[in-house]
Amino acid sequence: MIRKLLHKVFKQKNPTTNTNTQLRIILFDEHRINRNQISSCALKTTQGLQKAGFSAFIVGGAVRDLLLGLKPKDFDIATNATPEQTRSLFKRSRIIGRRFRLVHVMCGYETIEVSTFRGPVSNDNDIPDTKNHTDQHGRLLRDNIFGSQEEDAARRDFTSNALFYDPSSEEIHDYLDGYTDLKAKTLRIIGDPVTRYREDPVRMLRAIRLSAKLDMQLDHRTAEPIGDLAPLLQNVPSARLFDEMLKLLLSGHALSGVVDLRTRGLHHGLLPMLDVILEQPLGERFITLALKNTDERIQHDKPVSPAFLFASLLWHEVLTSWNTYKNSGEKPLSALYQAMNEVLSKQQQNLSIPRRFCATIMEIWVMQPRFESLIGRKPFRLIAHPRFRAAYDFMLLRCESGEIKTELGTWWKNFVAATPEKREKMIHKPQASGKRRKRNRRRTSRTNSTQRLTTATKEKSES
Ligand code: ATP
Ligand code: MG
Repeated sequence: MIRKLLHKVFKQKNPTTNTNTQLRIILFDEHRINRNQISSCALKTTQGLQKAGFSAFIVGGAVRDLLLGLKPKDFDIATNATPEQTRSLFKRSRIIGRRFRLVHVMCGYETIEVSTFRGPVSNDNDIPDTKNHTDQHGRLLRDNIFGSQEEDAARRDFTSNALFYDPSSEEIHDYLDGYTDLKAKTLRIIGDPVTRYREDPVRMLRAIRLSAKLDMQLDHRTAEPIGDLAPLLQNVPSARLFDEMLKLLLSGHALSGVVDLRTRGLHHGLLPMLDVILEQPLGERFITLALKNTDERIQHDKPVSPAFLFASLLWHEVLTSWNTYKNSGEKPLSALYQAMNEVLSKQQQNLSIPRRFCATIMEIWVMQPRFESLIGRKPFRLIAHPRFRAAYDFMLLRCESGEIKTELGTWWKNFVAATPEKREKMIHKPQASGKRRKRNRRRTSRTNSTQRLTTATKEKSES
């Protein structure tokens, strides 16, 4: 009988948050999420917590993705057990984080994140470690005040990320109308948008990424303050910004995400050079192709290298600077090194790229001029380089975007596919360069004069 009722509604006024909450319980017949779609580790964790008398729900992206018919990337759990209580229930678990304390529960290769229901934010910074702390811009520095399930829902970012699924009853608990928003494909921030973006400016990037990835529309109030608040991203630690930007680039919807970043002016503190690059037709074509290519690879479960992505995003800035150095009389290779250093150090002032990626980015760039030498052993040395594949794909993108001749790309495609014997035949014969010709001429004339001298000496001794 109860299954026949598609959902139950409990109207509640939340006394501690500014949001009007109304608990709606959505039953299986309506939402159709089956507990078999939940990973065994997540099921084991919710069951373990519930058996010990706590409440436990799958929450966030996993519920949202399942409702949209997508495969969840990971499963997160929310519970009323404290991190210590959760930790004591699972042998293979550990407490992590400072700003936001969580428990990682591990089963085999899988790790499940378990968070305790968060309570409302307080700006009272007087009592250390008992309150949430904010900086002068309103950014939350610590978020470890525990609360009720309802309060936890209000602390999440978007209504569609605040759905709680209980695998044992197969019910979804929805306090903020997230289910309706999700079905209408509307991404709506919870609470006052300006306050929520000030608390955590990364939510602006999440808004862009999730709307691109899930093909959801940003609701008007959610989108409106983003342009004005974009400078707040400068206060976010660089490593967190890089992680979030990488998530956007690897979401399978990088092209629409980057376009949206730029439209909303969010790229200024991340990839400020994007403006200049996208204003040149060749630069725009190159980035569009690179991101489209990345999206296709992700959609076909092929690996994507972050270094390749950043090398592509910044390449046309390197080209411009390289030309400037060459025109000022620098030798090509030295000009390229100067251009690369200039672009990377400009970029480090904004979204700082970790060092481990910078080395690969530079290798991809510095190998580009080598693709133009098809003489002698040079192509053989290039193909044997450990970074050849990435540099080669990069060169093909340059051909496809119209920056360099397609014939060069075709030559390399044939060279890569050829047998060792055929490769030998494809190689261009070394042509004597101007310098070498001069050197040869000098060598010949030296030989001639030596010969003349020997003959003269011989003639002299004979006479
Ligand atoms: P995906 O995993 O596809 O990137 P997600 O929404 O699951 O998306 P996670 O980073 O895994 O993202 O976060 C899990 C959940 O935690 C979110 O769904 C949301 O409810 C909450 N959350 C994450 N980041 C924030 C944030 N900055 N502010 C408030 N809540 C957040
Ligand atoms: Mg997630």
